[in-house]
Amino acid sequence: MKAQILATTAAAALLAACSTTPGGEMDPLADADVESTVTIPEGTGYFATDSTLPFLAPDFTKISEDDYLPAFEQGMAIQKAEIEAIKANPAAPTFENTIVAMEKSGRMLGRVARVFFALTGSNTTDRLDEINTEISPKLTAHGDSITLDPELFARVKAVYDNRAAMTMTPEDATLLENTYESMVHAGALLTDAQRERVKAINSELSTLTTEFGQLARSAMNDNPVFFDSREDLAGLSDSDIQAAADLAAENGQPGKFAIALQNTTQQPLLPTMENRDAREKLFKASYHRADGRMDVDTRMLIAKIATLRAEKAALFGEADWASYAMWDRMAEKPKTALDFMEQMVPALAATQRAEAAMLDEAIKADGGDYEVKPWDWYRYANKIKAERYDLDEDAVMEYFQLDKVLEDGVFFMAEELYGLTFERRTDVPVYHPDVWVYTVFDRDGSELGLFYFDPFQRPSKRGGAWMSNFVDQSYLWGTKPVIYNVLNIPKAPEGETQLVSFDWVNTTFHEFGHALHGFFADQRYESLSGTATARDFVEYPSQVHEMWATWPSVLSNYAFHYETGEPIPAEMIDKIEAAAKFNQGYDFGEVVEAALLDMKWSALSPAEAAAIDTPEKVDAFERQSLEELGLEIDLVPPRYRSTYFNHIFSSPSGYSAGYYSYLWTEMLDRDSRKWFIENGGLTRANGDHYRATVLSRGGTMDYFEMFENFAGRAPDVTPMLEARGLTEGDEAADSEVSDGKLPGTAVN
Ligand SMILES: [Zn+2]
Repeated sequence: MKAQILATTAAAALLAACSTTPGGEMDPLADADVESTVTIPEGTGYFATDSTLPFLAPDFTKISEDDYLPAFEQGMAIQKAEIEAIKANPAAPTFENTIVAMEKSGRMLGRVARVFFALTGSNTTDRLDEINTEISPKLTAHGDSITLDPELFARVKAVYDNRAAMTMTPEDATLLENTYESMVHAGALLTDAQRERVKAINSELSTLTTEFGQLARSAMNDNPVFFDSREDLAGLSDSDIQAAADLAAENGQPGKFAIALQNTTQQPLLPTMENRDAREKLFKASYHRADGRMDVDTRMLIAKIATLRAEKAALFGEADWASYAMWDRMAEKPKTALDFMEQMVPALAATQRAEAAMLDEAIKADGGDYEVKPWDWYRYANKIKAERYDLDEDAVMEYFQLDKVLEDGVFFMAEELYGLTFERRTDVPVYHPDVWVYTVFDRDGSELGLFYFDPFQRPSKRGGAWMSNFVDQSYLWGTKPVIYNVLNIPKAPEGETQLVSFDWVNTTFHEFGHALHGFFADQRYESLSGTATARDFVEYPSQVHEMWATWPSVLSNYAFHYETGEPIPAEMIDKIEAAAKFNQGYDFGEVVEAALLDMKWSALSPAEAAAIDTPEKVDAFERQSLEELGLEIDLVPPRYRSTYFNHIFSSPSGYSAGYYSYLWTEMLDRDSRKWFIENGGLTRANGDHYRATVLSRGGTMDYFEMFENFAGRAPDVTPMLEARGLTEGDEAADSEVSDGKLPGTAVN
């Protein structure tokens, strides 16, 4: 449910990596000192030129599915020629004729990619999916051909090596550094032989990780757990039992019952299953789905992937994969991320033990004579939660109407904090009738950008919620941001009031936080603009904005009962917030364990990785890594075991050495909430300060510096632990986290 800001397609990576630049009307070589002999081909069709609509918004009335493939092909050909022209320029390399010229290249490609990947995410068709499959590998190869071009790199390096003698704005300096470092990171400084080895490793990693993803998916989808009798499933609803009967029949075992596995170690039906043996069977099937005890075994793939990653890191002179992979992150060094997580362990372990003791009591009270196991955990935790907090989610929903959530909640918050105002408009074409469009006006009344809101679930939309841009803010091109938020709220039947669950209310504020990060962009270059920030930073501004969903003066402006008009009772909000702290030993613990497991795999030296060369050694390494953490791993196993940890093993880099990002941005978020509360909450002064120090900075500066400019100090983990309910209770645990300072936060 948490938002994903950019599509994780190869093409989106390409957009970020080689800074294709849509918008504007400048000749790519306008600033070159000497005319080049390379001819730049002319594009044809809709995407060849900028849109003529306000803000360069895409004109969906003029785009057909047949436009995409030729536009992609032409866009790549044009960018290729633009790069050739940069290389062929007889003038000595300069910042303008090389770095800025690269930034300007690929405008048509950027235009088509932005519209195309917006639609494959939120309103796809079979044809768009086919085009995606065809074009994605070509886009990857196209990006590599630029990043790994030795002649181009020679020009970039010449400019970079001369940087001390140049006068540049800080943003220019960041662009130069990013351009140089991303090429170095791809292998530009390696010898030919090393670069060949890197290419071979990349290709092998691509194959192995694809295979891992397919096997992990098969371990989940093709491995239903069979039960002989209806009694095994006692406690499930009639419709769940019917679904289980149907699934067994589909799998050639009519008369039996089958439950399909879900993604994470825990399984959503476990809490309602009364039969303990059946619970154990379902849980163990999930836990062992891909470790060779059943049909699927991903362990040797993991061993090979870890070995290749360690070898690749060594080619770049790095000690391990994490050191290589984290070069552009806020945390930057593996030790910073590890220390950050390990300091939570004592309090977390104590909480896990306290929760287990509480569950043991509940089991006893229920007549059970056993100690809690992972397959019992949520059954009893949910019972206690229901008794203690007495929360009826349907009753909560009656206070949240979608249009009020957006216009009187989210927009009201943006006006109070930042002085923004909004005007609904219907003259801008949309890609689906359920998309709402608004002009956003800045604090001085000028136009800031265009906002598309696409709230409803539909079969043509992928799951989750996200934000992206149709047009990026850029002074180079004179463009203002055109931004969309996509959600998956179940649409109410025609004629009924559109109500929204509290989770979706939160998500609506979250996604608009990303949108604000895009709207307040204040950059010359698109590749540094707005949300173009590190993986362990980008979720931070959006998470902070969730705090305003329950801020009293915001709530009292938008949360009214849809029938009676009564404001939401404060008691209901208190319960929601209190319930959010419950069961964190498990909920939070399983995420911390997965994040630490990721770092352990990413911290292997080539020799250590190569020594893990049998399936048994993969098991042993996982076991040992988890035991070292000091958490209650047999009661609270990691959210994903290595054998089905798609985030880190199903793509060449993905979230490997990066799963900690979810926790890291939460630390920044919670610490920032504390700052807002201590400084008077929802005020224009606070909003303007946050905008000036964080939301307007894009990826132009060091993230620690950004945070310090905002908060006046380094980030502190304590507010996050408090929010997770992990600082109360156990004395010993408390003392170990009491100062709460993040290690290694010296600004670098
Ligand atoms: Zn997000």
